Amino acid sequence: MARTHIPGFPRIGAKRELKFAQEAFWRGESSEAALRECAAGLRKTHWRQQADAGLDLVAAGDFAYYDQMLGMSALLGALPARFGFDPRTLTLAQYFELARGNAAQPAMEMTKWFDTNYHYLVPELGPDTRFDGGVDWVFDEIDEALALGHRVKPVLVGPVTWLWLSKTHVAGFDRLTLLPKLAAAYRDILQRLRARGIEWVQLDEPALCLELDDAWLDAYDTAYAALADCGVKLLLATYFDSAAEHAARAAALPVHGFHLDLVRAPQQWQAWREVLPANAVLSAGVIDGRNIWRADLRAILAQLAPLHAELGDRLWLAPSCSLLHVPVSLAPETRLDPEIRGWLAFATEKLDELKVLATALNDGEAAVADALAASDSAQAGRRASRRVVNAQVRQRVAAVTPEMADRRSPFAQRIADQRAALQLPPLPTTTIGSFPQTAEIRQTRAAFKRGELGALAYLQRIRAEIEDAVRRQEALGLDVLVHGEAERNDMVEYFGEQLCGYAFTEFGWVQSYGSRCVKPPLIYGDVYRPEPITVDTARYAQSLTDRPMKGMLTGPITMLQWSFVRDDQPRADTALQLALAIRDEVADLEQAGIRVIQIDEPALREGLPLRRADWDGYLQWAVRAFRIAAAVVRDDTQIHTHMCYAEFNDILPAIAALDADVITIETSRSAMELLDGFAAFDYPNEIGPGVYDIHSPRVPSVEAIGQLLVRACQVIPPERLWVNPDCGLKTRGWAETEAALRNMVAAARQLRERLAAEGAAGLRRQPVALERAAHAGGQCDCAAH
Ligand code: GLN
Ligand code: ZN
Repeated sequence: MARTHIPGFPRIGAKRELKFAQEAFWRGESSEAALRECAAGLRKTHWRQQADAGLDLVAAGDFAYYDQMLGMSALLGALPARFGFDPRTLTLAQYFELARGNAAQPAMEMTKWFDTNYHYLVPELGPDTRFDGGVDWVFDEIDEALALGHRVKPVLVGPVTWLWLSKTHVAGFDRLTLLPKLAAAYRDILQRLRARGIEWVQLDEPALCLELDDAWLDAYDTAYAALADCGVKLLLATYFDSAAEHAARAAALPVHGFHLDLVRAPQQWQAWREVLPANAVLSAGVIDGRNIWRADLRAILAQLAPLHAELGDRLWLAPSCSLLHVPVSLAPETRLDPEIRGWLAFATEKLDELKVLATALNDGEAAVADALAASDSAQAGRRASRRVVNAQVRQRVAAVTPEMADRRSPFAQRIADQRAALQLPPLPTTTIGSFPQTAEIRQTRAAFKRGELGALAYLQRIRAEIEDAVRRQEALGLDVLVHGEAERNDMVEYFGEQLCGYAFTEFGWVQSYGSRCVKPPLIYGDVYRPEPITVDTARYAQSLTDRPMKGMLTGPITMLQWSFVRDDQPRADTALQLALAIRDEVADLEQAGIRVIQIDEPALREGLPLRRADWDGYLQWAVRAFRIAAAVVRDDTQIHTHMCYAEFNDILPAIAALDADVITIETSRSAMELLDGFAAFDYPNEIGPGVYDIHSPRVPSVEAIGQLLVRACQVIPPERLWVNPDCGLKTRGWAETEAALRNMVAAARQLRERLAAEGAAGLRRQPVALERAAHAGGQCDCAAH
């Protein structure tokens, strides 16, 4: 009998119940008991769903009040010492302080979970880190599930992956020296699980899909040797990519089964087949845990047939990874086009797909004939819709020429033309696009969406906002203005709604971090732009002022990266369709007299594949897509791009290859450290290093901004520098925004005078005192709600 299980389930709840309970607790409006009760209710529902779907094992331990990595740290007792918390008596309030910071301590650093849009809290380790055990919440949850009568498979982040994802601030300290203590702590945990009668434990080791050096491969041997003979069976779970490279070594570990992602890397089975021990279980991850399309059950059964023949009862069926990365349920989606809805499966529906697959394998396909027929007709529907897609899109894609990705002249000539056309002072000042999204603006958009506000009244109100933003910018003395993005709720959704090939859910939320969720749109078909999107708005904004008005667009890679993307053609092809749609918009903006056009690409870096060997391939098509979107303009039209919090140093050649005339990036939190990479690389075009952190309500002083600017002038030639904040200002209020921008403009003016008087050489000699923000790593909130 092929068994079924899932590596994990979303915890936020179909109506984001957990988010609202967390936030009410944080605001002091509800008690810890209320939050715990909400969480217990969600867990109970999710286990019930798994059991009702006939899964052989239900997953427990996949719940987290904020993050599963933090949960593992709290279970081990390995918390950052700087907070001074006793891990054994950690309260929920303290747990949240670790995640969100408190008056004395900045939050633990947060970063992306592999190549997903989920963010985890990075363990902070040092030579004194202890693993003496912490809170027992995970055990309590497992007991809850057992008490409800479920067959429980606990899920824990595995020891090597947990350690791999950690960091240390202690110079020269090798985290691997902690491994023996860490492994002993895991051994204790497993023994406590055995005492509860647990048979199988899943240890998540996605790090095994990365390119690891010998020291880290040896760590697997050391850690798992310590876990041998704990009395529970271990399922070593890999996902998000192929683990074939390390299959032989992994197969020799003293574990009892392996979970493989056969959606992302179906071919890895060939390598595993050679080495899988005779008694080991293979958990075949065949349902896509990263995307929302209904599975082609017939095709999966064909893929599984030889595995089933070979492995018999040792074959388990599962989604490719935790279902954390897809929305909870299709049930509340009543407004979706019924045809498109029929093509989708969210977490809940994926449980049923798993059940059908298992029944087909165990009892024969006749037993699930109806379900298979329904799957067939959904696939046929998608295929048929592909046949009727806009032939023009296909023709345009086929007609793309290499020249379409190139500006007419090299940067040196373009920038001369642009300077002549724009007549900007040195160190021009600008902002990244959005201005404060006041309650009024939100209400206006919501009323329009509900149909309570007519189109004309809506347009007038948005125009009033734009005019207000323009007047404020003129009064502040900014050089290149923006319209403020009052009409946009979200930088991807706004454009997606006006493009063909996109669909939107009402409740398709996915956890991004803590209580923050994203609702990615769906790209289901060929993408094209039926009519101009931002041109009227931009033309109106430009009509209000003599200063240059920046047109503001979201780039093709960010549109792709922050959506659920069709899986029936390569992502590169979809990116190209998006690029052509944006290219049309760029051309129309230029036609309408807009001289500066910004194409935001904050998600460029997060599209990087997990394995470095695959980076080049991605960067090639991603860079090409951006260039095709941008390169339609004349030499004297200036193209800007913007990226948020990210490390750029390892992809600087690709960033330079975008060939944007100006790039604005975050740098203030690292005290311009990021700029050193641009300087060393000799980044050729203009650059606007953010001079203040928009994620904090603190108004930076003229002096502080001045120091950052001097530092910037020391590493980048001043004639290539712009002055701007780190990111868009939509999360801020007007009072702090105006105060901060006033100081920014003043700092830029002071520096211009000094440059005129002493030249760049004078600035280079000035010692600068810069404070690095305590919480330098980080997360941009641009896409979370
Ligand atoms: N133009 C967008 C804004 O200012 C950019 C946000 C982003 O890059 N994430 O809000
Ligand atoms: Zn940004």
